[in-house]
Amino acid sequence: MKPGVFGKKGAKPLDCETLLLLTSCPIRSEKGQLEFQDPMAPDKKAQRKAFLQYTIWREGPISRGDLARLARLNLPTISTLIGELMAEDEVVEEGFASSTGGRRPQLLDINPSTGYVIGVTFYSRGISSAFSNLKGQIENRRDFEFDASLGREATIERIGEAIQTQIDALEPRGGRKVIRQIGIGISGLVDKERGISREFPRFEAWTDVPLQRLLEERFGIATVIDNNVATITLSELIFGDLRRHRNALYVHLGSGIGAGIVIGGKVYKGSRSYVGEFGHVTAVDNGPICYCGNYGCLEAVASEYALVQQAEAALREGVHSAILDPGGDRRVTSAGVFRAAEAGDRLAIHLIEKACALIGTGVAALINLFGPEVIILGGQMAEAGDILLTPLRRVVQTKSLERIQPDLEIKVSGFGQNAGLMGALTLALHNHYSTLGHS
Ligand SMILES: [Zn+2]
Repeated sequence: MKPGVFGKKGAKPLDCETLLLLTSCPIRSEKGQLEFQDPMAPDKKAQRKAFLQYTIWREGPISRGDLARLARLNLPTISTLIGELMAEDEVVEEGFASSTGGRRPQLLDINPSTGYVIGVTFYSRGISSAFSNLKGQIENRRDFEFDASLGREATIERIGEAIQTQIDALEPRGGRKVIRQIGIGISGLVDKERGISREFPRFEAWTDVPLQRLLEERFGIATVIDNNVATITLSELIFGDLRRHRNALYVHLGSGIGAGIVIGGKVYKGSRSYVGEFGHVTAVDNGPICYCGNYGCLEAVASEYALVQQAEAALREGVHSAILDPGGDRRVTSAGVFRAAEAGDRLAIHLIEKACALIGTGVAALINLFGPEVIILGGQMAEAGDILLTPLRRVVQTKSLERIQPDLEIKVSGFGQNAGLMGALTLALHNHYSTLGHS
């Protein structure tokens, strides 16, 4: 491997087998062998071009030589197909690899502004939308209020409004014809294959909503939906700190708690695509009831939502605390709890330590089960920083088996408040590139 070609030192590109698993390109023989005997046959050619486009999108900037190795095609074939993709404006030459003594190879990348995707995230705090180019550069974030009491139809209408805003914003760049896909990340259980949002936390009227079909009928643009945590995991894997990691975890600590599991460079989806419901593992015997119907779920005792509820209950009991901001509107917020803990408030410190003990025990179990190389923490609670991370790391360290990953890294997502939107945008991009050869 030529140093510098694949960016980060020590990071390895994906291999051909993994890349094939990630796309829908059916370029395997019936025996499961890769077969490239007739690389220019019309149907196979379209699939190979699609495979190259996906590989360049995922691994670029990349040289023709590395591309040939990954795709297991010879250089003349690669040059012909890349020539066509460049003529179609999909791929561009983008700088040179660092020198290894000989001629520096020219690098290829996706042409980022030939198309755009729209992303929408819908979670308990609200609905947000944005658009991005083909490299996931987010623009034009817009936030919309969500109120479950307005019901299902009004919420669907609000999601439509969030999308229409982005279509309007893309008008000067070509409007509908440059929009490749719409990606939606939603809290709760999502049947991605059927495009149905099955359940949304604490929103009873939201059951079995065929959101993909409704939105495709309204806008006439290919749409894909998935669970928020799954989409954020995908965005960490493609654009974030999990890039080029094979085995990793994303743990979401917000008003809900969830886990994204990366196995072999791919987000693990389970048999029915409902996976990573880490928040609904039982953390406390006889604990408070969870909206899922179980008692003592991790989400019911250690989420941002639970933290606020516990602080409110303690204040009602008359506990002295600086959690309420004297100048504020007398509402308890998780930010208030973290701020008070930083100032040494006993109640706030106890609440956070208790939550960390429960979350840390769960994360340690995940480490023992999956042996990740790295864990990314995201969501509102993770953004609190060291006040949460220090006790959490301590619990994880004492409760997971040291030999499984002695140099395991636990860090906070770099996407911050845009994590949900980055997830939705990446979902749209991934779906676009992984199904190109499928028409
Ligand atoms: Zn539950």
